[in-house]
Amino acid sequence: MKYNIPRGTFDILPEDSYKWQFLQDSFRKFAICFGYQEITTPIFEVSELFERSSGESSDVVQKEMYRFCDKKGREFALRPEGTAPVVRSYVENNLDKLSKRSKLFYLGPMFRYDRPQAGRYRQFYQYGIEFIGSNNPYYDAEVIAISMLWLNSLGLNKLRLEINSVGCPDCAVLYDKALQEYYRPFLGKLCPDCQNRFNTNPRRLLDCKVPSCIELRDDAPSQLNYLDEPCEKHFEAVCNYLQAMKIKYIINPRIVRGLDYYTNTAFEIVYEGLGAQNSLAGGGRYNGLIEQIGGKSVPAIGFAGGFERLLIALEEEKINYAEKPKPDAYLVCLGENVRLEVLTYLNDLRIKGLIVDYDPDKNSMKAQFKAADASGAKYAIIIGEDELANKTINLKNLQTGEQIRVAMNAEDTKQRIRAKI
Ligand code: AMP
Repeated sequence: MKYNIPRGTFDILPEDSYKWQFLQDSFRKFAICFGYQEITTPIFEVSELFERSSGESSDVVQKEMYRFCDKKGREFALRPEGTAPVVRSYVENNLDKLSKRSKLFYLGPMFRYDRPQAGRYRQFYQYGIEFIGSNNPYYDAEVIAISMLWLNSLGLNKLRLEINSVGCPDCAVLYDKALQEYYRPFLGKLCPDCQNRFNTNPRRLLDCKVPSCIELRDDAPSQLNYLDEPCEKHFEAVCNYLQAMKIKYIINPRIVRGLDYYTNTAFEIVYEGLGAQNSLAGGGRYNGLIEQIGGKSVPAIGFAGGFERLLIALEEEKINYAEKPKPDAYLVCLGENVRLEVLTYLNDLRIKGLIVDYDPDKNSMKAQFKAADASGAKYAIIIGEDELANKTINLKNLQTGEQIRVAMNAEDTKQRIRAKI
């Protein structure tokens, strides 16, 4: 019996895992520099959390959630996104008591039952930021800046930042009415999903990917014409902050984002080379969400991006963002007695943080040097009977061919290798 990986998922094989580690570490460091702290929540939550937060009519809840019951019949879902779990944790752990502002980031897999294609998977890995605790438009700009500047720092420049304001719930009511008025004469031409959306959530009509619906969207009214004064001011201030940060953006009034909880700022980072799945990251403000899932009324803003599409973009631009780690040294041992006696030294080297390759199945000097070359090791540490008797080693720089005899002392070896002696 041979088993296959589930459709829409993939293995990260050893030869690629360094890229993932690099991206995770890099995002972590970046977020920490902006004052954010990591939060890790479970991979599954009660389904209702997502029904309440994303909205019953959202595609995520309607079609894409992996749902299951546990042995006691409780309904859970594999998390389709990271914001609702973080907000659940914020409320449950009273994080507002620790500090008025919670600056959080997360990394981890998300799950959506969607039609797999390039850049779209059923399990995908997201990185994200959630800022909770202020409606100051500076934070909208800060969160957008993190998402954009991190991608720039990796070497990606062909990015387009698109921003919009979806207003507050009061603006949304007016806008929904305007959209219904606009779409009513075309109801028969809309796809079946959009015919539903017309009643349940007209703004979703703007998000539809069906070509005939996209065509109708062109002349639809713009959300920006339905903002009240405070929402208009908020949006203007976000734009001003972005300009002050020299972050280029375009205003795209068609950005509505797929989930119900967004208010005011909504944004997306688009990479043109990605075809249909061209959104690298997206987010927005969600001032009503925390109250909606049982917390106090606290304003917040966040974003999430996906590593899979990011990796595709980085490969496409041929950006050399991460180097495959190579061993610092390869241990060449000559003689059975040596092999046994040398083990504490070998362990010490590894404990001190050197990457040391060693293969007890290779016996001849020739075979061991061949393996050292193949491994890409920078140094060979050569130990025979004579060296062992004198507690010394031969340290050979495999690039220059230079070789020196020094004490068999793990700290000394480490310092020499680090100093490239
Ligand atoms: P969303 O949570 O839908 O706003 O998505 C945020 C980001 O996550 C997107 O810009 C993508 O980079 C990534 N993403 C969302 N869904 C998928 C998926 N099915 N497969 C791969 N990446 C995804």
